[in-house]
Amino acid sequence: MKTFTGIPASPGFASGKAFVYQGDAPLEIPRYSVTEAELSAEWERLQKALAEAAGEIKALYERANREMGREQADIFKAHLFMLEDFDFHEQIKEKLHKNLLNVEWIVWDVSREISQKLMRSPEPLFRERAVDITDVSRRLIDNLLSVTRSRSTLADLDEDVILVSHDLLPSDTLIMNKSRVKGLALDEGSRTSHTAILARAFNIPAVLGLSLVSREIRDGETVALNGSSGIVIVDPDQQTLARQEDEEKLERKQTNRLNALRDLPAETTDGCRVTLKANIEFPEEAEKVLHYGAEGIGLYRSEFLFITPGNAAEEDTQYQAYSHVLKTMGTLPVTIRTIDVGGDKIVPDLQVAQGQYTSEKNPLLGLRAIRFSLEYPELFKVQLRAILRASVYGNVRIMFPMISGIEELDQAHVLLDQARAECTAKGQAFAPNIETGVMIEIPSAAMTSDILAEKSDFFSIGTNDLIQYTMAVDRGNEKVSHLGEYHHPAVLRFLKRIIDAAHEKGIKAAMCGELAGDPAATAILIGLGLDEFSMNASSIPLVKQVIRETSLESCKSLAAECLQGRSIAEARAAVKAHGI
Ligand code: PEP
Ligand code: MG
Repeated sequence: MKTFTGIPASPGFASGKAFVYQGDAPLEIPRYSVTEAELSAEWERLQKALAEAAGEIKALYERANREMGREQADIFKAHLFMLEDFDFHEQIKEKLHKNLLNVEWIVWDVSREISQKLMRSPEPLFRERAVDITDVSRRLIDNLLSVTRSRSTLADLDEDVILVSHDLLPSDTLIMNKSRVKGLALDEGSRTSHTAILARAFNIPAVLGLSLVSREIRDGETVALNGSSGIVIVDPDQQTLARQEDEEKLERKQTNRLNALRDLPAETTDGCRVTLKANIEFPEEAEKVLHYGAEGIGLYRSEFLFITPGNAAEEDTQYQAYSHVLKTMGTLPVTIRTIDVGGDKIVPDLQVAQGQYTSEKNPLLGLRAIRFSLEYPELFKVQLRAILRASVYGNVRIMFPMISGIEELDQAHVLLDQARAECTAKGQAFAPNIETGVMIEIPSAAMTSDILAEKSDFFSIGTNDLIQYTMAVDRGNEKVSHLGEYHHPAVLRFLKRIIDAAHEKGIKAAMCGELAGDPAATAILIGLGLDEFSMNASSIPLVKQVIRETSLESCKSLAAECLQGRSIAEARAAVKAHGI
């Protein structure tokens, strides 16, 4: 029996056979010079890779035809057509001879040029083709590099497993057969990494940041995992399994007790009422959040629509998804955050098409979120029009991610106005007076929150990123993630500054980072004056219980003492002394 301790990232218990997944090798394409004499060998390598790719695509076509129908299968027909396209081959040949570089690099370069051209087209049909070009060239490059992509093994899982891996891309998490993944144990990641957020959305118990677990556990070994305590046990004895079962029963009882609070208000003992909302990543989650008594959706991470295989670049696909959420939530507010790709949320098809996938050295400081949307305004306006059109079905609010200053906010509003005008020109109806808000998650936004508040209907504090960027701590890196501490005076002062700035301008301050769902932080946040908490829906009952058992007065004095702390330790000591 071997025990590992990691970061408890998604609560719950699981035991079963380990499935060790090697994951996709990152798409790192070597670039090296070749001599003129080597050109024919390079060309031959390409011919071989083309033949292999054609075989794979034909097999995919047949499978899709069998399992999904003609329409889906036609996608692969189009891929085959591109693969065999004479012009594509000619462009590769020309560049190969001109640049004298290895053929995988040339394939990448040519396909990037083609897809960038297509992506800038206002025609949705051409933009879709860009994604296909990317897909085809990736397959070709994989074959040239002899990389076997094993994602399909995740999708095809046909027995219950504990998935063990070094890391998972959010897109891996989406693709995997979730009904078979009973638990997740990863070397990398932290509580606020997006894989953790997705595991919680899917209710899959998860322990992350386990360092070397993927090398220590072998396929088929029995693993017991506790996502609440962060313990992973390999080859557990009967006693351990029985103890885990007891703990599971206890946790279930507590959950049932908390769920009874569903219809009670989130109000302190002295009458301070706050709003509890849910974060969602997928449209289908809307039903679930109502079950937990959420008073709306405080954060809909719309980018996951783009990570899900399908046609998210299409305005109608987005319109359907947003409409579904709005209809499900009725009159309750739904805050749709515009696309936040980049950082650890790689949307390969979209970003490779834009040439952003491999070229960023520091993706967390790169073309992420609103920066991506402002760089590709046509893409951004597709999303804005889809939201506007869906707005007639409910109470939508639009939120812009990673705003760093007023210029970006102004530019986003210009594009929103254009999207409104475009809808009007087409006779498409949308709700009047849609509220727009800003995520405060960059120190520069926190420092200028008084300025941003003048042009915002609400703020939502993204503590996952605000802490990451304030303390220079990569939120997905288990070696440093523990350093990202909200008790740090810099973070507490930022929170106070943001909330005060909102109130001074008469707007509400919400929080949708993971801190909002942490019951240990609830009292401080109430004391700082936070109006709205948005979190994973299943955390709502526990946070509500904490609120209902405390008074605003004690929360305020706790917050004041924490703010006086000169260090993390002093703020923590204040919390301990208060005993709440
Ligand atoms: C945040 O940064 O706190 C946030 C809610 O956004 P995301 O986790 O999607 O980056
Ligand atoms: Mg964020």
